[in-house]
Amino acid sequence: MAIQQKLSLMIPGPTPVPEKVLEALARHPIGHRSKDFQDLVEITTKNLKWLHQTENDVLTITGSGTAAMEAGIISTLSKGDKVICGENGKFGQRWVKVAKEFGLEVIKIDAEWGTPLNPDNFKKILEKDHKKEIKAVILTHSETSTGVINDLKMISSHIRNHNKALSIIDCVTSLGACNVPIDEWELDIVASGSQKGYMIPPGLSFVSVSKKAWQASEKSNLPKFYLNLQSYKKSLSSNSNPYTPAVNLVFALDESLKMMKDEGLVKIFQRHQRHKLAVSEAAKTLNLKLFADEKNLSPSVTAIQTGEIDAENFRKIIKNKYDILLAGGQDHLKGKIFRVGHLGYVNDRDIISVIAAIGNTLVEQNKISTERVGEALKIASYHLKVS
Ligand SMILES: *Cc1c(COP(=O)(O)O)cnc(C)c1O
Repeated sequence: MAIQQKLSLMIPGPTPVPEKVLEALARHPIGHRSKDFQDLVEITTKNLKWLHQTENDVLTITGSGTAAMEAGIISTLSKGDKVICGENGKFGQRWVKVAKEFGLEVIKIDAEWGTPLNPDNFKKILEKDHKKEIKAVILTHSETSTGVINDLKMISSHIRNHNKALSIIDCVTSLGACNVPIDEWELDIVASGSQKGYMIPPGLSFVSVSKKAWQASEKSNLPKFYLNLQSYKKSLSSNSNPYTPAVNLVFALDESLKMMKDEGLVKIFQRHQRHKLAVSEAAKTLNLKLFADEKNLSPSVTAIQTGEIDAENFRKIIKNKYDILLAGGQDHLKGKIFRVGHLGYVNDRDIISVIAAIGNTLVEQNKISTERVGEALKIASYHLKVS
C-alpha cells in the first residue's frame, strides 16, 4: 500500500510543496484589511512581476487556473466578439467551451493531440482580417494533457502584426518552467495557477494584464462580478483585494516566490529543461514511445505511451510499490498513456527515482531487461549534469 506521507507527486499539478511553504500555510490567518497584509500584497505583487518578466499589472485571484483564464476572457471581450481559439488538447478544448459559453464567435485552429499548433495557420487568418474583426487569440502555451509546448513566440508575433487582437494565453504549466517574457512578446493576458510551477497548494491564480487589455476592458460587456479584473486592479492600487483572499495561501506565495528568486529564473528554466530531457530520453531507452512530438516537448510534463500495457494499471503499480503518483491520460487517451510531471519543486533525486520505478516495473512485467534500466539511468544522469 502507498504511504501517504511519502507520496511523491509526479503529476503536473498539484505539485510538491516545500516545507517552508507548508509552514507558512499553518500560520494563524491575519486580517485581510490590515497593514501587515497590505505589506505582504505589495511584496508578492512585486515578486510576481519579476516572475512574469513584466511591468504589466499582475493580479492574484482566489480560484484555480480556470478562474484566471475565464477572468481574462470575460473582462476584456464583448458578446458576439470574434476570437481565434487554438485547440490541441484538453485545455485548448476548455477555452473553446468557455468562449462559446459566453457567446463569443469562435474560429478554431486545431492540431492533432500530441502535435503543436501551426503558427502559419494563425498568421493566415490574422492577415486576412482586414476589417480587424478578430478581438482576441486564446491559446494554451504548454498543453498539459499531451505534453506539447506550442510556439508562443512565433504565434504572438503574428498577433502583434495584426495590431488589434488581444492575446489571452494559458501559461499555467509554462510560467515558472520555461521562458515566458511577457513584455518582450507583448502578451496581453497571461493566466497561471498556484498548484503548478509556484510550488503552492491549489487555490490561487494569477493574471497579468497589459495596458491594451485594460483599454479593451473599458468596453467589455460580458456578465461578470467576482472575476471582474477591474475590481482587482482598483483594490491593488492600495495593495488590497476586492474580496477576502485565501490569506494563508498568500503567506505561502510569499515564501515560494522568495525561494524562486533565490534560485533565479535562468536556473529554474534550466532545471526544468534538464528534467524534461532526462525523463524523455530515459523513457525512449526503456522502449517506451513519447506521445508528444519530440521537437515540441513541454518543460513540465512528459506524456508516455504504454502500447499493449494498460497505463492505468501501470500507474497503480507505481503508486502502490514506489509511492510515486503519475498522471493518467484524459478522455480517449485514458489507459493509453501516463504522464510524468516534472514541474515546480522537483529535484534530480525525484527524476532518478521515477525512471527507476518505471524501469523496474517494466522488468517485472518481462517487457525489458534489467540492463535497459541501467542504460536509462545512465542516459538520465547524462542529461541531469549541470553544464
Ligand atoms: C492545470 C491547468 C489549468 C488550470 O486548471 P485548474 O484545475 O483550473 O487549476 C489550465 N491550463 C493548463 C494547461 C493546466 O495544466
